[in-house]
Amino acid sequence: MKSPLPAPPLGECHIPAPSPLQSTSQSGSGEGAFLFFLFCQGDLLLTSEGKIPFATKPPIELKPWEVVTKIKCPLPAPPLGECSSPDERGGCGNEALPKKESGVGAVVGLLSSPVTDRPDLQMVPLRKTFHILSPSDYQLAGKCAELVYFHQNNKFCGVCGGQMRWHTEISKQCQECGKELWPSLATAIIVRIKRDDEILMVHAHNFRDRHYGLVAGFVETGETLEECVRREVWEETRLRIHNIRYFASQPWPYPSGLMVGFTADYLSGEIELQRSELSDGGWYSRDNLPYLPDPSSIAYRLIMDWVNN
Ligand SMILES: [Zn+2]
Repeated sequence: MKSPLPAPPLGECHIPAPSPLQSTSQSGSGEGAFLFFLFCQGDLLLTSEGKIPFATKPPIELKPWEVVTKIKCPLPAPPLGECSSPDERGGCGNEALPKKESGVGAVVGLLSSPVTDRPDLQMVPLRKTFHILSPSDYQLAGKCAELVYFHQNNKFCGVCGGQMRWHTEISKQCQECGKELWPSLATAIIVRIKRDDEILMVHAHNFRDRHYGLVAGFVETGETLEECVRREVWEETRLRIHNIRYFASQPWPYPSGLMVGFTADYLSGEIELQRSELSDGGWYSRDNLPYLPDPSSIAYRLIMDWVNN
């Protein structure tokens, strides 16, 4: 349960003037318009048609302190071919992300209360918007959610206690000592382990439903990603693995994570589950799969990549 954070003084935040963030790519659909990523209690405000509100004015009246920041939507990623990863489909794992809103400005806000009285608007949990929004809009919504989280958790400087204010689109600076701060990601690995025609799937206590996923865990300080893969597999299952290969990565804005996916092959050992984290686990073949993770997850992509190959 989060306690309410103090509201910034009036005047710190304001609805940005449209001119510097004017739309360059959505021709005809709203010159000077913004995308409005407005959150409340983990939900995102969408239109009743399931779109991010896009207009010259906010869809609801915004109090000055409800505006967290404003950003420009990311420019298109470099063309495929410059990336050497085995999976070059982009963060969300669907088609190459069409950054159709490139250059458009976005207003990021944190509402004091959910919008419940507007038939033209709806509040949708961020994770569910994966199934509603385009891949690029979903990824951008995640970025905005992470900026909101960063803002909420970094009101004051950890060095001197001074007030932190936005310095760039993705950083804050202390008004007293000048310390600059960027959002910190919680990096986690996830690994698909193959043994002959089976893969290892596990159910963790903290899963919200009965699905089975893959071994995963947070990277510790001073550790490489590959060391983390080996450590997590050993800690959770007492198995030894080899042939660790990078698969893909995915922003995971719940609240501010980066999932790095790997594949590996079983080497030796018998499964001995870490009962404090896992309630079940075992080897599964393609025709004997348990209930799968949500398609929004990189676990699902790792599993389906194996199923389809
Ligand atoms: Zn400071």
